[in-house]
Amino acid sequence: MTLDETTSQSLFERAKQVIPAGVNSPVRAFGSVGGTPPFLISASGALLTDADGNEYVDLVGSWGPMILGHANPRVVEAVQEAAGRGLSFGAPQAGEVTLVEELVRRVRPLQKVRLVNSGTEATMSALRVARAATGRDLVVKFAGCYHGHVDALLAEAGSGVATFGMPGSAGVTAGTARDTIVVPYGDREAVRALFAERGQEIAAVITEAAPANMGVVTPPEGFNAFLAETAHAAGALLITDEVLTGFRASSEGYYGIDGPAAGADGWAPDLMTFGKVIGGGLPVGAFGGRADLMDLLSPLGPVYQAGTLSGNPLATAAGLATFAGLDDAAYERLTSTSASLQSLVAEALTAAGVPHVVQTAGTLFSVFFREHPVTTYQDAKDQDTAAFGRFFHSMLEQGVYLPPSAFEAWFVSAAHDGDVLDRIASALPAAARAAAAG
Ligand SMILES: *Cc1c(COP(=O)(O)O)cnc(C)c1O
Repeated sequence: MTLDETTSQSLFERAKQVIPAGVNSPVRAFGSVGGTPPFLISASGALLTDADGNEYVDLVGSWGPMILGHANPRVVEAVQEAAGRGLSFGAPQAGEVTLVEELVRRVRPLQKVRLVNSGTEATMSALRVARAATGRDLVVKFAGCYHGHVDALLAEAGSGVATFGMPGSAGVTAGTARDTIVVPYGDREAVRALFAERGQEIAAVITEAAPANMGVVTPPEGFNAFLAETAHAAGALLITDEVLTGFRASSEGYYGIDGPAAGADGWAPDLMTFGKVIGGGLPVGAFGGRADLMDLLSPLGPVYQAGTLSGNPLATAAGLATFAGLDDAAYERLTSTSASLQSLVAEALTAAGVPHVVQTAGTLFSVFFREHPVTTYQDAKDQDTAAFGRFFHSMLEQGVYLPPSAFEAWFVSAAHDGDVLDRIASALPAAARAAAAG
C-alpha cells in the first residue's frame, strides 16, 4: 500500500464504493458540515489521531461512552484480561450479574434489568414490554427526542434524523407510524389533551430523560414527574430513555437530578433504558425498571426478547471497569471541565458577536447557534447551521474535533485536563470569527 492509500480522503473514497455514504452511522459522513471525515487510527485520553497523522482534542467521545477518556488503562486491561478467557459464551457469566447489580445499585427505579447490545435494542424492548403489560398499542414520543432507529420511534426524531432534516424514515409501515403519536417537547397541554382523548389506548410515553439529541434541552421543572403522573392516571407507563444521560448527566443519570430526593416519595419511571456509558465503548445497552414488568420477559413471561451476544464477557468487563473509574472525583472533574468549556465557548462567541445559547443537563451541554433558548424541536431547527459549519471546520483545522452537527451534545471526559482546555481555548477565537464571517 502506498501512503496515499491510507489517507482519510482515499479511505473515504474506498468506503463510499462499498458502504452507503462511506459510513456505518449517518452523522459520521459530515453531510451537514461538508468535507471529508477524518478516519481515525487511535485514541488516548482526550486525544484522537487520524490516518493523516493529525491529532485532535476529542469532544465527541464516541457520542458518550468514553467518559473516562480513550484507552483508559484500567478499561483496556479489563477487556484484555476478559478476552484471554473467551470472547463470548452464549451462556450466563459472572460479569453480567456484577454489571446489572451496579446499575441497580446506582439507579433507584431499577429493580430488574436485562442487558442488550445497543440503545436501540433497549428502547425497542422496553416498548414491547410496555405494550404487553398494558395490552395497548399507542406510544407517545416527543418531537426532537431520539430513541435509536426503532421503527416506531423514528418519527420526528433527533440525532441524525434532525441533522438531515428528515420527518422520519422511509421503510416504516403506515401501521407502525399510526401507533406513534408525536407531541411537542415540554408541552403539558398537548399531553393532557392527548390523554383526555386517547388515554385508554396509550401503552407508554417515552421521553429522553433530558433531550440531548436535538442539542441539549433542559426539561422544564417537574416535566418528567408530570409525565409519570399523567401516564399512570390513564393506566399507561412512562419510559425514560437514559441511553445518553445515564451516568453522564450525573452519577445517577438525569434521574439523579430530577428524581425525588433520596429516600423521599415521588415519581419514578416504570421502565428506563441505558447504553453508551454502561459499555465503556463496547456494544452494550440495558433496559429495566419495575420487577413485575421485567418479569413479563421470556422465559418467565410471554414477551420474547433475546440476544446471541447479550451480556458478553468483554462488554461487561468494559462496562464494569468504566464504572470502577466513575467515582465522585470523576464526576467533580466532569462537572468542572464541562463548566469551564461552556464559559470558554460562550466568551469566544460573544467576543465575535455570534448569537448563541449554551444549554445544560447536568454535566451535559450543547451550543445552539441562535439568540434565544431552545425549548422545542422547532426552536432547535431554527438555528444558524451554516455558522455552526464554519465554526466546526475552523475548530477541526485547529485540532479540535466537535460533533459534526449543530444538533448534538458536546462530550467531555474525565481525561480532559487543563492542557486540553488550553488547546481548545486557543482555537476558539478564530473559529468564532469564522462563524461570524457568514
Ligand atoms: C444513542 C441513543 C440511543 C440509541 O443508542 P444506540 O446504541 O446508538 O442504538 C437511544 N436513545 C438515546 C437517548 C440515545 O442518545
